[in-house]
Amino acid sequence: MKRWHLELSCTGKGNDQVGCGLENKIYESDIFVTTDYLIDESIAYFFTFSCPSCGTKTDIKDYVIPKDIRRAKIEEFIYKSVKRR
Ligand SMILES: [Zn+2]
Repeated sequence: MKRWHLELSCTGKGNDQVGCGLENKIYESDIFVTTDYLIDESIAYFFTFSCPSCGTKTDIKDYVIPKDIRRAKIEEFIYKSVKRR
């Protein structure tokens, strides 16, 4: 079985940064969760990667990531933020 990955270019989308445009192979372990508060104070989760070349963060569209990976990433994020307190 081929290892799941995405091929995404570095655009800085969602992070107010300008990416270098490099095409990156993004594996499950390269994806991390970032959060933002919505107007109604609920938390929005974003799936993000850092470009290995320039370090710019780019958000990934939810629907291109399999649901089980998204769920695992959010669980991991919540676990880490609880442990930090
Ligand atoms: Zn880049």
